[in-house]
This record gives sequence, structure tokens and C-alpha cells, in this order.
Amino acid sequence: MIAFRSFLTAVGLLLGIANAAALPGTALAAGPIDASVTGIENKFPDELVFSIEAASTAADIRSVTLHSIIGSGPAERRGNVGVQPGRNVKTTFSYKTGGNNFVAPGADIAYWLEAQDAAGNKFESDKAVFWYADTRFEWRNLKEGSVTVYYYGAAEANARRALAAAHQTQQKVGNMFGVSARPFRVMLYNTPRDITGAQPVEQSQTRRTEIIRAGIAYSGEDLVQVLGVGGSGAEDTARHEITHLFVHWTAGSNVATWLNEGMAVWGQSDGGQEYVPYFRRALANNALLLIRGMDSFPGKSDDTLLAYGQSYTIVKWMIETSGPEKMRGLMESLKAGDGLARGLQQHYGVTVDQLDAKWRQSVGAPPRSYDTAVPTAIAIPTIAPIGAAPAAPQPTSAGSSAGGASIAGGVPPFLMVGAGVGAFLLVLVGGAAAFSIARRR
Ligand SMILES: [Zn+2]
Repeated sequence: MIAFRSFLTAVGLLLGIANAAALPGTALAAGPIDASVTGIENKFPDELVFSIEAASTAADIRSVTLHSIIGSGPAERRGNVGVQPGRNVKTTFSYKTGGNNFVAPGADIAYWLEAQDAAGNKFESDKAVFWYADTRFEWRNLKEGSVTVYYYGAAEANARRALAAAHQTQQKVGNMFGVSARPFRVMLYNTPRDITGAQPVEQSQTRRTEIIRAGIAYSGEDLVQVLGVGGSGAEDTARHEITHLFVHWTAGSNVATWLNEGMAVWGQSDGGQEYVPYFRRALANNALLLIRGMDSFPGKSDDTLLAYGQSYTIVKWMIETSGPEKMRGLMESLKAGDGLARGLQQHYGVTVDQLDAKWRQSVGAPPRSYDTAVPTAIAIPTIAPIGAAPAAPQPTSAGSSAGGASIAGGVPPFLMVGAGVGAFLLVLVGGAAAFSIARRR
């Protein structure tokens, strides 16, 4: 879905700015207050239980706040730790990691405490980092450069292949966008059941039973989950998801689905072979999709595969004919909030429809009219807050909504999970791989 909530993005950016300023370097000079986290119990997948103590020699402790930033942020969570006023307080705080507050396991969570007493004294603790692990497994890791691959069981060989694939993607896509030095993690899972247990719970029973999401990129946590089975398919899942991370880092969250998925397929090594037949058939039948109709993807399965294949050929053509610098420029324009139309005009000198016409010409498709053109039946995304009650057809309040594209036998290209003001995370779903595993005929 492309109904990215620009509102949420704006909130995230604002918080990011605020965070940068608020990040404590060291604790304030010795004052009357002291506060500390004395333990963290990981109750994956539901919550972390923080044990917290605070004391003041001057007056009763009135409030304690737990601040946290997941991964590299930017969003900050702030949790009010309920305390009974007193000189010495000792309590626990439930930090939710499931439902609307989903945190992808494998992420680092940086946290610190802020405490105030009745006399107005304030205290801010040093920042500490907790690794939020999926406690079902004994994790090991391989680290090279800015990439760390986490794995368990007898998957070391898979982990080495995933590490190599990650480095290839840094070379191919990361260098192009100037983000190849930025650290990220690949969380490798060995079975569909294992990886499903590490993902946001699906609302719909249909989704739960039909779709195995073999890969998801979590831009907030700086990690991708990859189902590490299926030979080179697993490596391409890694390449696809890592490319989504890179796109997000470069362009933010307002990226048309065709551009985002086209890039992700371009990041794969196989050139989207799976989708090529659908593209060829549509070309032969004069049934290509309108680019401007692919802000989100069709819900029907064959159309979804066509959309992936067509998006890939468009992106490939853009990069090959105009060069990687222009693609990077377009991405950076999107991040700056220029929007697709202005970004295309600025870097490619075309409107969206002119891009469509030029691309059609490049693949030998006959010219079409754009005056009366209507995008081919695009499924309206079904928006469903994860972990919340029944789906509304359209979000009305961006601040607390989460979006997932309609799956309707297809793929959720994106899920965005709003965790309320103070925290949000963006989930880019590896629809391609999910589709192939769940639906391949
Ligand atoms: Zn994807």
C-alpha cells in the first residue's frame, strides 16, 4: 500500500529532531536524585519487564519516565512509570513489544530514565542498550563490515550465504544510494513457523493461513527477517529486503509501490525471473498497467505478479538509460517531501504519464492515450491496525492507524504500524518472496 501516512512520517521526523537534542550523553551532575533500571525480563513476544528504582534525598519522587529509541530511530517512545510518591520507589514497567507496539526481535533498544521529585529536582540517567531477542532460539552471529547476520541451529552455512548476499546488495544498491556503510542486521529463521512467530500477528485468518512472509524489512529496527531456506531464493529474499531498507533510508516512507518494489526486485540477483512471464504476457496482450495506477499494487494475484514484473522493468530501464545518480536524486527528492511528480520532473524531466509513455516505447508497447486513461482495477487497501479490532476500509485517523495492503490472494507490499505518538515503525514486506512461497503454483 502506498497510503503511507505522511502525518506519521512528519511525527517521526519531528521526534527525531527532538530526540537528537534530548539524547543524554552523560548523567547530570550529582544531584539529590538517583534512578536506575535494575533488571529487564524479556517476555518475548509480548513485553519487556523493566525493574526500576528511584530515590531522592531532597523530596518524594513524583514521576519516572522510561525513554527509548528502537534501532537507529528516529521515533522515541516515552513511558510513564507509575510510582507511589516516596523517597525511595521501586517498581516495574511493562514495555510492550507486541500488537500495536510491535518491535521486531533482534533490535537494539536504547533506553534511559528521567525522574523528578516534588522539589523540582530532575535527573536523567545514562543511556543503555538492551538487545531484544527472540528467546525461542539460541542466537549466534556472523559480523563483517556493517552487516551482522544472526542465526541459530545448524544454519551457519546459510548465514554465510546471507552475509555474502548482504554485501553484494551493499555494493549494488547501497553504493548507489550512498548508504552502504550504515549498519543493519539480517535475522535468519529456519522454518516458516519460526519466522511467522517473529512477525506482527496477522488480523485476518485468511492471511494467517495463506501467507508466509518469507522476508520483511523493518526500517525502524534496521533489520530484515529472512526465511533462510530454499537455496538461492533465500539469498534473493535477503537482497530484496535489504534493498527495501536502503530505499527507506534514502527516500523515506513516501515511495510509490512500483518504485519501491521495482527497486527491491532490481536488487535481487535473478532479475525478477519469476515475474517476467506475466510482464511478457501483458505486453503481448496490450494489458500493461499504468504507472500512475501503481502507487499501490493490484489485489488480484496475477496482477500483483505483473505489477512486480512491470515495476522491475521500469526501474531497470530508468537506471540503465538515465544512470544511478538520477535514481538517487529522485529518492532524495522523495525524502525531502517533493513527491513523485516533482521528483520525476526535476531529475528525469518528465511527468508520470510521460515516463509511462517513454517506457512503453522502450519495451515496444504501442502508444496509449492518457487523457481518459483510468488505472486498471486497483484494490483499495484494507487498513487494519495490527492487534486491534476489525479492519476499516480507509484510515480516518493516521495517528493511531496501521495500514496493510489488501492481501486478497496477493501480497502486502507494505505494512505500516503506527504505535501512537512517540513511536512508530515501518514495515516493508517482502511480498515477492512471500508470494512465491505461499502461492506458487
Ligand atoms: Zn518487496
